[in-house]
Amino acid sequence: MTTFSADRSYAESLDSADALALFRDRFVHDDPERIYLDGNSLGQLPVRTQARIAEVVDQDWGVGLVRSWERWIDLPRQAGDMLGEHLLGAAAGQVLVCDSVTVNLYKLAWAALDAQPGRDVLVTDDDNFPTDRYVLAGVAAQRGCELRLIHTDIDSGVSEQALADALDERTALVSLSHVAYRSGALADMAALTRLIHGSGAMALWDLCHSAGAVPVQLDACAADLAIGCTYKYLNAGPGAPGFSYVRAGLQPRLRQPIWGWFGQREQFAMGPSYDPAPGIDSFLTGTPNVIGTVAVEEGARLLGEAGIEQLRQKSTLLTGYLIYLADQWLAEYGFELASPRDDGRRGGHVTLQHPDAWQISQALIRAKVIVDYRTPDRVRLGPVPISTSFSQVWDAVDRLRQIAADKSYADIPAEPSRVT
Ligand SMILES: *Cc1c(COP(=O)(O)O)cnc(C)c1O
Repeated sequence: MTTFSADRSYAESLDSADALALFRDRFVHDDPERIYLDGNSLGQLPVRTQARIAEVVDQDWGVGLVRSWERWIDLPRQAGDMLGEHLLGAAAGQVLVCDSVTVNLYKLAWAALDAQPGRDVLVTDDDNFPTDRYVLAGVAAQRGCELRLIHTDIDSGVSEQALADALDERTALVSLSHVAYRSGALADMAALTRLIHGSGAMALWDLCHSAGAVPVQLDACAADLAIGCTYKYLNAGPGAPGFSYVRAGLQPRLRQPIWGWFGQREQFAMGPSYDPAPGIDSFLTGTPNVIGTVAVEEGARLLGEAGIEQLRQKSTLLTGYLIYLADQWLAEYGFELASPRDDGRRGGHVTLQHPDAWQISQALIRAKVIVDYRTPDRVRLGPVPISTSFSQVWDAVDRLRQIAADKSYADIPAEPSRVT
């Protein structure tokens, strides 16, 4: 248990001892007063990525033109292997960077059902991210299967008991988020995967809020499938492609539903019918997003250089300090912690509950602390360890305390805008 202090000098001393402090300079900054606590929604732009994208656009595309495909063609696998090595605990040949999270979930859920005739139930939880619930409901409807929604407390995360109750010999696939998008609750991947395997079903993990935030050990946990996002903690930019993991032992048994030419054996033979490539390549669909994938490589390289264990250590300290300050300063204004207090059960962000959460989040943004609002009444603060200092956490909670004390958010319309 760390003993924190609410003196700003204490935050400054944590900054002086921070071995990752210099990584802050690896990102593009334009305003020293801005405190960006939303890298869990859209990561900041790394300086090197800006340069690499310019190089790809100017040289590879501008000059190399179509000849550059020689180098681009293997990018989805190359970037996937980098993610596997640095961040996901996955040996080579099991991760691809392609399509979106949403599309990848559809592909993998469909493939998992196809591979297990006789099993016709998908399981997820009622607090999983919307696109996950919608895609699974769609797959279930299209295939005449059942989608079982287990109940999850929105602050504490998935319950092992609720999951156990939903498993039986009909269960084909359980799809869960490793870190809950709203509360940041961190699920025990190894234990839940074991539980799922006990019923003979496959386990699919959504790593959107864990990739680059918490160490993930897909191989060691014997996870079957995983999907994730690269524009959050991986800093690959808006709309950068998602990733998929398919355990090597399962690859020969799974066939995904989108029979595209990038998943074809000897793609450029342009053969008469679909014959899937061996291995992970069969999970490709069409032409990859080159610029986005290059940015994923840079993002993985940067986090790999910092080291995911070191990042996690700092992240736990950052969020722990944020919670400490919130306890000290904000409780009297009606804020409550809506994330797990236990360091080992919490991912990279902290969520606070307050009846005026929408207005407060907007007032914070006005005060240059960029956070986001989540339904029903939550403010989400993501102090990403690669670029956030302890002094910034102190300043952010201090600005929040002032906004709450003088109610300066009262002029903001109470109704949330279209994008939150
Ligand atoms: C961000 C996020 C997504 C986003 O999916 P896209 O297809 O990239 O829009 C999906 N699932 C979870 C859990 C997320 O946090």
